[in-house]
Amino acid sequence: AAHLVPVAVLVFGLVGILLLTIPTKDVQEEPGLRYGIVLDAGSSHTSLYIYKWPGNKQNGTAVVTQHSKCHAEGGGIASYAGQLGAAGKSLEAFNAYLSAQILKEVSHKIQSYPFDYRGAAILSGKEEGAYGWVTVNYLSENFIKYGFEGHWFSPSRPTVGALDLGGASTQITFATQEKIEDTDDLMKLRLYGHEYTLYTHSFLCYGKDQFLKRLLAHIMKSQGYPQSVAHPCYPADHSRVVKLSSILESPCTAKYKPSSYDPHASVTVHGTGHYKHCLGNVSGVFSFEGCPFSQCSFDRVFQPNVTGGFMAFSAFFYVHSFLQQVTGITASSPLELEVATKRVCNMSFSQMTLLAPEQKSRLHYYCAASVFLNALMLRGYGFNDTSFPHISFQKKVADTTVGWALGYMLSLSNLLPTERLELRKALTP
Ligand code: AMP
Repeated sequence: AAHLVPVAVLVFGLVGILLLTIPTKDVQEEPGLRYGIVLDAGSSHTSLYIYKWPGNKQNGTAVVTQHSKCHAEGGGIASYAGQLGAAGKSLEAFNAYLSAQILKEVSHKIQSYPFDYRGAAILSGKEEGAYGWVTVNYLSENFIKYGFEGHWFSPSRPTVGALDLGGASTQITFATQEKIEDTDDLMKLRLYGHEYTLYTHSFLCYGKDQFLKRLLAHIMKSQGYPQSVAHPCYPADHSRVVKLSSILESPCTAKYKPSSYDPHASVTVHGTGHYKHCLGNVSGVFSFEGCPFSQCSFDRVFQPNVTGGFMAFSAFFYVHSFLQQVTGITASSPLELEVATKRVCNMSFSQMTLLAPEQKSRLHYYCAASVFLNALMLRGYGFNDTSFPHISFQKKVADTTVGWALGYMLSLSNLLPTERLELRKALTP
């Protein structure tokens, strides 16, 4: 309809390209609304988000909400390697030339849809972190708020940090007054007349899926690549057959790859359900040595002290809510997180199946993922008894999924003014 001015924004995650056809059906739309579409082609799957906002209120107020979300069928973009041939494969190894080719091809295709196309890009880890931070604070109305008096005002309250755990990478982003010793981790944002100084870092290969691959590769290597691998993070009554190539062909496991191996070979991984050994192996995948700055999180990466509230979303939320579901413990302190994790690591696969039957395909990895979450948040980022309780684990705020997609759309659609609201009003004819 003519009153709808859709803004189609195609976005690719870190390793992502996928051709999507958007199914259309006749729907009764509310008049005067505008829509934006973001495609997030991430490492584990592709999601499509539709956002809406009143077309007559483009003064930068927090009125954009999620209209709907859907998952594209199939796996992450890298799983299309076969269909895309060498090009798809090269995306995994971040081949700039071929990924640019595919990006061009996909943008061409998307432009044949009846949307106002605004672009397709591979987001850097830094952008992913910053847009996630914008989403969190926009939805929490920390930039501007609607007052009882009937007008929008700047609540001048502190912002909230963002913790995102994807399939391939993880991001930590928060405003800080401390000196940021590595300028690569510094980002300045000007929003609603405020300048925000953000610390942001993206850890590639520390996403949930890639970390679990690295953990298994680390364990296999330490056992000398046997036919039958003992995994201390898997339940004792569980075993599974894993193709070696599914673990060793990822760029994240390159350092574990033996000089020669049969890529068609499989190994049997059987669980031993041993929490302490699991923790030892998980910690062994991180590097806590050799910090070249006054302080580091891990892997020689500078990080100031975490400060203020945080929102932890995507897989942080999934793992935290699984712990709650099967142990009854809402982990809101480091001790509770550790107790719940130990309990999950001591559970058998059949016990877990009784408690969370709908998660059957994921049950084997929750001990590993929970121990990883502990190591990352407590030892890595340095959350402690004082700061951890200020983390809120959430999937949605105001019915809108928390992630980088909304922040990206707001920025691209000029829905986030950089100048003060009063100034903006004065400038508007
Ligand atoms: P995403 O943020 O969508 O890239 O997903 C990040 C990670 O969360 C991936 O490792 C997914 O496998 C995992 N994941 C996605 N959906 C769920 C879910 N419903 N429960 C548990 N884990 C999930």
